[in-house]
Amino acid sequence: MKTCMNCNISVGGNADTCPLCQNSLTGTASPNNWPSPTRLRKQAFLYKLQLFIVLAAIVVGLSLDFLLDLNNGRHYSLIFSLWLIIFELDLWNNIKKVFIISKTVSLTILHVSLLLLLTAWYYNFFDIAAFTIVPILTGTALLANMTFAMIDTRENAMVYLLENILIVFIIYAVLKARHTQPGLVWTICLMISLVCLIGIIIFKGRKVSNEIQKRMNF
Ligand SMILES: [Zn+2]
Repeated sequence: MKTCMNCNISVGGNADTCPLCQNSLTGTASPNNWPSPTRLRKQAFLYKLQLFIVLAAIVVGLSLDFLLDLNNGRHYSLIFSLWLIIFELDLWNNIKKVFIISKTVSLTILHVSLLLLLTAWYYNFFDIAAFTIVPILTGTALLANMTFAMIDTRENAMVYLLENILIVFIIYAVLKARHTQPGLVWTICLMISLVCLIGIIIFKGRKVSNEIQKRMNF
């Protein structure tokens, strides 16, 4: 055990300075009282490494695009950078906050869908994105959230499933109101959301209305 002559206290572990007065400690070191945070340090390093690579890619992309102007005024690097920035923000949120899988799945699919629509609009494949890829992603989110809602006993997933169902209803209603044919994939998506709604009401019953009341603050 090491001691501080100044404070007259014993300090466990192998610290060189007193935690109170920062004077040097005397005596022999004893084993550390807590495990060394190697795993956390490794994770922090990996996080920094990917952040560095992503930021470097953004800088290189923007420089090539704007300084050399290889694409005759079409600035693709803006869309490329936006994808990476949203990815970084989502990753940061997942690390910082309590991890809820249904929330992560829902937000990721929402962000990917919005970015995809923007990219598709820029690259002229908007119809395929809006009427095939996005409804497939939305249907996948629905099925995943239905599964989470069925197995999750703390009812974290239910609100994301209900939100998901609501979003599909709204998209379908807007398309119909604008006299746009929603197409086969959105129609399948609507059927899945109706089946999920029936399923969640049958299996979870009163918990569904409780959840809606809680979220709406009735
Ligand atoms: Zn001291």
